[in-house]
Amino acid sequence: MDFRLSDEHIALKNMARKFAEQEIIPVIREYDEKEEFPWDIIKKMHEVGLLTCGVPEEYGGPGIDMLGQIIVTEELCYGSAGVGATMAASSLLSAEPVIVAGNDAQKKHYFDVLNEGKLGAFCLTEPGAGSDVAGLSMTAKRDGDYYILNGTKQFITNGGVADIYTVFATTDKNLKYKGIIGFIVDRNTPGISVGPEEKKMGIRTSDTRQVIFEDVRVPVENRLGEEGEGFSICMKSLDLSRPSVAAEAIGIAQRAFDIAVKYCKERVAFGQPIGNFQALRFMLADMAMEIEAARLLTYKACWLAMNNEPFNYMASYAKCYAADMAMRVTTNAVQILGGYGYLREYGVEMCMRDAKVMQIYEGTNQIQRVVIANHIFRG
Ligand SMILES: Cc1cc2nc3c(=O)[nH]c(=O)nc-3n(C[C@H](O)[C@H](O)[C@H](O)COP(=O)(O)OP(=O)(O)OC[C@H]3O[C@@H](n4cnc5c(N)ncnc54)[C@H](O)[C@@H]3O)c2cc1C
Repeated sequence: MDFRLSDEHIALKNMARKFAEQEIIPVIREYDEKEEFPWDIIKKMHEVGLLTCGVPEEYGGPGIDMLGQIIVTEELCYGSAGVGATMAASSLLSAEPVIVAGNDAQKKHYFDVLNEGKLGAFCLTEPGAGSDVAGLSMTAKRDGDYYILNGTKQFITNGGVADIYTVFATTDKNLKYKGIIGFIVDRNTPGISVGPEEKKMGIRTSDTRQVIFEDVRVPVENRLGEEGEGFSICMKSLDLSRPSVAAEAIGIAQRAFDIAVKYCKERVAFGQPIGNFQALRFMLADMAMEIEAARLLTYKACWLAMNNEPFNYMASYAKCYAADMAMRVTTNAVQILGGYGYLREYGVEMCMRDAKVMQIYEGTNQIQRVVIANHIFRG
């Protein structure tokens, strides 16, 4: 075993951290306050090659491996989970179905769009179907060389800012998971509209909306895999993407932790820095342990995936543990800063708000525990 990162991964980590410190942290609170999508940051992220970090080299991307993608995601989320989630939803989550099942022409089409600095979005959840993916109702009816899509997608990250979507629908709801089918859909296809931006607790700089499909004609050549393969494509995509949600959570937690440590050295109470108090030192010790444990689980999930070993249960370990950890760590960071932690100005309040969704999206932490328990019982 070798726990050291390679020189390339260290360079990538340093580059992404520098980007977070120079381009994100100084301006993000204002964007968060206004709940504004940070196009300026996204453009700069594209210029330095981080926005397309999931695009394979043969399709014009930087060719960063899965561990590198995790590292970039963590560091961007150190700056802002909203910004990191924008990149991850586009370059990782929305692109995974294309990586998993796309043919050469589909990959070229999808990645050409991302390589232009445009964004992608992954359209799975519906108003009536979140955890229960097989219960989705959006219909895909074959009409000659086209499928006609009708239905509404809910909570779509980048829904209003993306130029291309991966979309899941059903040919027949009675077939449940066997009826599901995946597509690449261009945003400018007639019949697509988006709802108003959702007002959220956290990751307020990311764009979350309904995407509505009304008689949207999608050419057959945009279908990913065969009819009936959509459920499996979707599950494989989520397995691949879950370590990046873990990385988002770790980035948030690391930032809250660093703010808390700095504050402990500076804040004086009872004539001494509060970092001298064992009560706070033990909290920080627990926080440091948990962050590192989450990172190691995430790296292990990546290692298994990169070595073609079964990894879906480990992706769930990582996502579930890291998300719960981020909630604990950010809550403790607010506590360590006392009243100042509760103010927006100090930054840990944003970390705590941002951490919550990590337990919810890309499969709630209850669903992760279902996956883990199934692995325990079925092997
Ligand atoms: C900010 C944000 C961004 C998102 N981005 C995207 C996106 O880009 N694309 C996309 O497709 N979706 C996206 N989602 C949707 C997200 O993945 C879903 O919200 C999530 O999967 C849960 O679905 P639901 O909200 O319908 O909850 P439900 O499935 O209705 O669950 C409600 C509660 O029941 C629990 N529950 C449900 N089933 C079980 C079970 N079998 N066992 C135990 N407990 C269970 C859940 O854990 C939860 O606590 C996003 C959501 C948010 C909030």
